[in-house]
Amino acid sequence: MPIGCSVIVPMFNEEEVIEHTYNRLKRVMDCSEEDYELIFVNDGSVDRTAEIVEAICRRDPKVRLIQFSRNFGHQIAISAGMDYAAGQSIVIIDADLQDPPEVILEMLDKWREGYEVVYGKRMKRKGETVFKKVTAKMFYRLLGKMTQVDIPLDTGDFRLIDRKVCDVLKGLKEKNRFVRGLVGWAGFRQTRVEYVREERFAGVTKYPLRKMLRFAADGITSFSHKPLKIASYVGFVLSFSSFVYLFVVLLQKWLELGMVPGWASIVAINLFFNGIVLMLLGVMGEYIGRIYDETKDRPLYIVREKVGFEYDDNHVSG
Ligand code: UDP
Ligand code: MG
Repeated sequence: MPIGCSVIVPMFNEEEVIEHTYNRLKRVMDCSEEDYELIFVNDGSVDRTAEIVEAICRRDPKVRLIQFSRNFGHQIAISAGMDYAAGQSIVIIDADLQDPPEVILEMLDKWREGYEVVYGKRMKRKGETVFKKVTAKMFYRLLGKMTQVDIPLDTGDFRLIDRKVCDVLKGLKEKNRFVRGLVGWAGFRQTRVEYVREERFAGVTKYPLRKMLRFAADGITSFSHKPLKIASYVGFVLSFSSFVYLFVVLLQKWLELGMVPGWASIVAINLFFNGIVLMLLGVMGEYIGRIYDETKDRPLYIVREKVGFEYDDNHVSG
């Protein structure tokens, strides 16, 4: 029998929450009138997350576990889940219960009405730092300005996608993945359900500033060439103004207007221009690095072990 809904849960060191997450997801999905599977993707956790989920797999045939060989990142974990999902609809949800599983039922209703993407829009975010809320808000506005792709404001990866959308995403082999952008890019009939983002059930965020910055850079560079254009505009304006300044200097010399030896101004100009040049080189570097990643053609992730796929004929290749 085909599976109606696959739920993908990426996990990185979530030992404190994962049992609860499973229980709540199970309760919700049992009411959903769909045959379902829960796919937990262990993104290289170094705690007991995998052990706990393995134990669950042994007693619940609807649960599957994909073990990465190391930490590959949240977006890659989601992508791996999609590769293994057998459902007609696919739901992506965080492991920390910030996205309430009950909302999945509303998403499924919309899906049955014929929508192919149902994303969760966060009306409120509880228990997150002001810094995170402010930077997230700025990021989504900036992203909206910089890209042509329609990426809805204030949505995370908590969403339902139809099998058709999942197949499209599986075909996109880019390495620096920004899944919510790719879903927007794919199009299809989209709608939203609104929800309040809860506090983390337990544990701390697995997105330190370093990962947040990388995530933001992926989002912008995967969908926009504007930073490169800004680089060339800035370069143009600067070289034009230095040209003008050159004339000023020459005029001063010809008219023999008291040329004061200006050490400070030379140093200041030097620092300024070098700073700009280095910054623009950095922008180029971001793109070249990503081009390099794509050309290496390494797999997106490495699976160390799969648990719970063996009794299910929907996973022929699994
Ligand atoms: N996560 C992951 N790999 C990582 C970082 C995070 O799979 O390298 C998972 C994490 O376990 C959680 C989800 O991604 O299920 C979102 O992470 P988190 O809740 O820490 O982020 P936040 O909600 O603070 O933005
Ligand atoms: Mg979270």
